[in-house]
Amino acid sequence: MGYAIAAAAAQLGHRVLLVSGPTSLDVPDKVDFLPVESATEMFDAVRRHIPSTNIAIFSAAVADYRPARPAAGKIKKSSDTLSLDLVRNPDILGSCRSEFGFTGTLVGFAAETGNLEQHARAKLTRKSCDLVVANDVSRPEIGFDSADNEVLLVFPDRTDPIPMMPKEHLAGHIINAAIKLHDAQGREASPGPPAG
Ligand code: C5P
Repeated sequence: MGYAIAAAAAQLGHRVLLVSGPTSLDVPDKVDFLPVESATEMFDAVRRHIPSTNIAIFSAAVADYRPARPAAGKIKKSSDTLSLDLVRNPDILGSCRSEFGFTGTLVGFAAETGNLEQHARAKLTRKSCDLVVANDVSRPEIGFDSADNEVLLVFPDRTDPIPMMPKEHLAGHIINAAIKLHDAQGREASPGPPAG
């Protein structure tokens, strides 16, 4: 979904930086690409680049935990069971307002398996987003690993259901909604020099 949104924004003539973990997808034309390998690297990349960003869209399904002590080499089998200690990853989207001081338009995603709108609305408030794109990942025909998606666009004052459609078309809806929000808010990441 992130790659489709990056492509749609670039086609509209916007400058786009795509920060992505490893995938098998081709980087869309006219998109600047910053590959990362871990949640911590993604956190650092976002912290570095968000000050020059007007609209930030977070569609990556970032792991909430990572191994506490990554093994340098292969873990040889010994006992019948093996436990891994996990530690929390930073919440990148959740850090944008509070830690990075981001004042631009902030769009998050919510992958849920029930009570879609309720959970998405809670996320909208908790992470101070302007829009949360909510999809039901319990349905195999949409969302992860599928060409199509069907979502709710959850805004502070309303919810717009978007019917099932190819991710490329949906990307257009999401980017247009984000641009409309940005124009309405008149928010700029870094105000230009004073006129005159
Ligand atoms: O709370 P939850 O992880 O379900 O929220 C999903 C949203 O948070 C998505 O926009 C996802 O990209 C973002 N996220 C993040 N950093 C994490 C986990 C999720 O930015 N460590």
